[in-house]
Amino acid sequence: MNLAVVNLDSNETKVTQIPERDEKMFIGGKGVATKLITTLSPKIDPLSPKNVIIFAVGPVNSFRLSGASRMTAVFKSPLTGGYGESQCGGFAPHEMALSGVHVLMVAGRSEKPVYLVVEGGCVEIKPADHLWGLDAFETEDALRKDEGGEVMAIGQAGENLVKFACITHRRGRQFGRAGGGAVLGSKRVKAIVFRGDGEGRESQEFEEFLDKHVIPKLSALQKYGTPNIMWLVNRSKSLPSYYWKSSEFSIEGIDAEKMLRYFVRRNACYACKVACGRISRTEKAEVEGPEYETLYSFGTLLGNADLEIIIEANELADRFGMDTISLGNAIGFAIELSRLGKLEESIDFGEGEKYVELVRKTAFREGIGSLLAEGVVGMERLTGVEGVHVNGLEPPAYDPRGIFGMALAYATSPRGACHMRSCAYRPNLAGQLDRLSAEGQARLVRELEDFYAVVDSLVFCRFLTLPQIGMGWEDVAKLLEIASGRKYEVEHLKKVGHRIHSMAWEFNRREGIGYGRLPSKFFQYGLEREDFERMIEEYMRFRESNQA
Ligand code: SF4
Repeated sequence: MNLAVVNLDSNETKVTQIPERDEKMFIGGKGVATKLITTLSPKIDPLSPKNVIIFAVGPVNSFRLSGASRMTAVFKSPLTGGYGESQCGGFAPHEMALSGVHVLMVAGRSEKPVYLVVEGGCVEIKPADHLWGLDAFETEDALRKDEGGEVMAIGQAGENLVKFACITHRRGRQFGRAGGGAVLGSKRVKAIVFRGDGEGRESQEFEEFLDKHVIPKLSALQKYGTPNIMWLVNRSKSLPSYYWKSSEFSIEGIDAEKMLRYFVRRNACYACKVACGRISRTEKAEVEGPEYETLYSFGTLLGNADLEIIIEANELADRFGMDTISLGNAIGFAIELSRLGKLEESIDFGEGEKYVELVRKTAFREGIGSLLAEGVVGMERLTGVEGVHVNGLEPPAYDPRGIFGMALAYATSPRGACHMRSCAYRPNLAGQLDRLSAEGQARLVRELEDFYAVVDSLVFCRFLTLPQIGMGWEDVAKLLEIASGRKYEVEHLKKVGHRIHSMAWEFNRREGIGYGRLPSKFFQYGLEREDFERMIEEYMRFRESNQA
């Protein structure tokens, strides 16, 4: 694997090889990038030139295979001050895997706006004054015309250092969580273009395996996209609504069936037969999505059942480049602050048009938007009112009061309240264990965290590795062997997963961050503190007894 380090202070790029020992120990993607981020000095300002952002692919991303066009970004998060991480699909990951640069570390700060072109094992730094001020869609269109290749870009939110700004690719694919877009913006990097060379690799054997054993189980995802899970979550009273006052909602106006009214076509990452993306169109907007998480963050969480408004707000957030989960939570918290008389503005539940305006104001830090741009943890600091976040990251659409395992998952995820580090909601909702009990949750969360640390190092898609219906440890080991030519035993891979997860936490501990304190709202009903504490204690015992 080749590592390119771009230093924007000196405009120099250095290309070296990742030592083979590190490839064996950390695989690629998240593992290698996490190892590299630990070289940062502790306590640096995440928006200073001292921070870095590392983009990485792994051994499977050069394959023409469902689920294989994914990449990882790792950075110190400007939102949480801790370990920042995100994964993105689309076409750029496959292109990067063929570009001769497998790990790209961007350091320093450019004096003027620039974009990077990654090709043939090198990185070129080019002026981007003409792109600064454009939204992410416009930037991508302009660069695809001028440069070809695959583009990842920030919008105005990244330029304006909105703490949860994302990095956008092909309009609907994002490095969404934890503020990677603000890190790029702080470095004055508007976009990165990846241009690969040659054909991708094939594995007929593994393709047949996916066709036979995995993809047929994803038919609901193919038909409805991620919103297909909304019925199940709502039925189990785990769908956060009215800014965490309730765990259920009248979803008829915004559910997956209703979305069919706006359906235009399906969309896929490179070579993926699942094609879980769905383009929706109204008279005012067109968007890839809304995903389930956005139906929650711009919908149920805000008491908003107007699907056209959600689509419009979603398109704007994608254009300006902001994580919809964090933004919806920031708007929800603003509603609570307004109701408490802590804001000059009046905002309430179910006021859809106002939310669309707040999306714009946040991206440009206008008026109240400048408060929202700090994220819930920043708003909490500025107002003295407790918001809902865990270690600085706003939670996704799985209410721990209806799924106890998610309380633990939010507390132990290295990036804060995140559903993707363990996907523990799935076995809970599927009845593999009692979702309203602490029993068995610690073992489950720990096992899944290690599994996904490995999956994110391949880098492979979550949907094809979902608990119970997707690939398991044996399948991942097999794919890794096909891709790398090295034999990996499952027990060895489990240690690798534990090692990577522990390394991410080591980064957090240097920053003074420990397993997360949960917001008091999570204990208002359903979940008891004793249950949470029992899960944490059990989890820590498992972690401590499993040295890598
Ligand atoms: S399942 Fe969806 S997100 Fe995953 S690779 Fe396929 S299209 Fe992309």
